[in-house]
Amino acid sequence: MRVYNFSAGPAVLPEAVLEQIRSDLPDWQGSGMSVMEVSHRSADFVAVAQLAESHLRRLMTIPDNYKVLFLQGGATGQFAATAMNLSAAGDTVDFVRTGAWGVKAAKQAAPFVNVNIAADGAATSADGKYNHVPAQDTWQTSDEAAYLHYTPNETIGGVEFSFIPDSKVPLVADMSSTILSRPLDVSRFGVIYAGAQKNIGPAGLTLVIVREDLLDRARDITPSVLNYRVMADSDSMSNTPPTFTWYVAGLVFEWLLDQGGLEAIGEVNERKKNKLYAYIDNEDFYSNPVAPDSRSWMNVPFVLAQPKLDGQFLEQSLAAGMTNLKGHRSVGGMRASIYNAMPEEGVDALISFMSEFARRHG
Ligand code: PMP
Repeated sequence: MRVYNFSAGPAVLPEAVLEQIRSDLPDWQGSGMSVMEVSHRSADFVAVAQLAESHLRRLMTIPDNYKVLFLQGGATGQFAATAMNLSAAGDTVDFVRTGAWGVKAAKQAAPFVNVNIAADGAATSADGKYNHVPAQDTWQTSDEAAYLHYTPNETIGGVEFSFIPDSKVPLVADMSSTILSRPLDVSRFGVIYAGAQKNIGPAGLTLVIVREDLLDRARDITPSVLNYRVMADSDSMSNTPPTFTWYVAGLVFEWLLDQGGLEAIGEVNERKKNKLYAYIDNEDFYSNPVAPDSRSWMNVPFVLAQPKLDGQFLEQSLAAGMTNLKGHRSVGGMRASIYNAMPEEGVDALISFMSEFARRHG
């Protein structure tokens, strides 16, 4: 039996995609092999790879002057890869930090660039925690930064930008946990990157969407597997790509198109998060610490008024068919990740469970 899986990542996949994988697995397209067993250079696999890219381009309306790369190394690999690809030694890079992933991104870039923390949400919050997006007119950007890096959605703290920053320098965004959640104006960005294991597919694939005029800034030291120019020129196949994950990502993109694209899924996502936050705000037993204008659509952290009941909450939610509601170890409490593949009924079931639990214990 399927459960409602609220994991932050690797996360729930659409059931229709899992069924398709199951039926494809032993004998993919009449080849007598699974897709995992064929060469990435075979015509059949190249067709799958290209179709996945064209689905993604359609979904996100990616302009023609952007390359889409299918890489490995995770979003974490991109923390350093962005620096190696987009800056020269001695360059300054602006970082806006609104949570744990932004902190890690700046740290991984630090060996390569002069890190300027243009804004830090923990420094401007009352309790020193990341719970809001600092207003852009308070940011201390440097005059000649190579680029500005930020994390549109912080998966752990559940802090999300409700706006795309204005920037004179290329905007570089770690969209791991918000990509594909709703329509996005890609043309505002220099680089968008995302680990696959939330809204894209299984772990193992890292998407990079890069504006073409930024392809030739890589330092000589950049390993070829992380080099945007090398990977763009080889259709992400300078070495063996993560073929199975790429194939599954293509199925997920197709599923999203079947749902009506990002406009349609965005409406569902908006309803899902609105009802969950509304319930949490109206029920004294639960609370969410994030400023209302900075709340994540995809990751909803909440705490119980009596933390000693956390164990019971988790035990009973599991018995009710809901998994992975435990908050990140650095934050505690609970977190419901409600990515694209979490059906609205899953959020309804969670709210019913929470209200029943509050009634019994509140
Ligand atoms: N950035 C964000 C916003 C994330 O949520 C995560 C993973 N949870 C990462 C980076 C790290 O991704 P990876 O494990 O793919 O390196």
